[in-house]
Amino acid sequence: ARKFFVGGNFKMNGSKASITKIVEDLNAAELPSDVEVVVAPPSLYITLTKELLTNPLVKVAAQNSFPKASGAYTGEIAAPQIKDAGADWVILGHSERRTIIKETDEFIAEKTVHALESGLGVILCIGELLEERDTGKTLVVCNRQLDAVVDKVKDWSNIVIAYEPVWAIGTGLAATPEDAQATHSAIRKYLAEKLGEDQASKIRILYGGSVNGKNAPSFSACPDIDGYLVGGASLKPEFIDIIKSRE
Ligand code: 13P
Repeated sequence: ARKFFVGGNFKMNGSKASITKIVEDLNAAELPSDVEVVVAPPSLYITLTKELLTNPLVKVAAQNSFPKASGAYTGEIAAPQIKDAGADWVILGHSERRTIIKETDEFIAEKTVHALESGLGVILCIGELLEERDTGKTLVVCNRQLDAVVDKVKDWSNIVIAYEPVWAIGTGLAATPEDAQATHSAIRKYLAEKLGEDQASKIRILYGGSVNGKNAPSFSACPDIDGYLVGGASLKPEFIDIIKSRE
């Protein structure tokens, strides 16, 4: 069975004070032991988060990494440095990096290879824009984004996929559980063609896009939805309700 996974992507939000409060709340919460919880603060606060975390059920992710171990890459952060700071995961391919920073499928695949080789788990984000959805291209786009990584990575045991339709991110308009389930199921079928049934059946596929304390339970009932990647609500106390939403 696939272990349920709840990620909190803080994006470019938070301060020492507010992140301290979030971590203290996670430490104090009684979290279910059968859920993998990963929080992704801005990289400046990874060390602070690691120092404050006492809840062994909560792991830490970076929001991005660069595909070189070190060197003259001003402003970038290397996967080995992320490991050194105590994080176990990195989010790659987030739509905000694809669309605003113009990262390509190929570059995201390179980063995925490097992060995996450095010992990080990768939360690989995919998802279509509104106009792509409206023109029936959801799966074409998701498959293209996956293909870039499939070409370079054969062992997906340390990759978690986050399906985040761009039109649902930060809009309050989450996908319906039925739509999300249909897309997740199609993604898993595609992975089975590319990587084999066995691997495909083990890969966790998270839903992301306006997940909150209220709608989370409706997604967790879907057979191919193995958790969530939460943005805005991960900064609020309801993040704990989302983690517990499967009980
Ligand atoms: P929201 O939950 O704020 O819609 O963001 C989702 C997201 O982008 C998580 O990576």
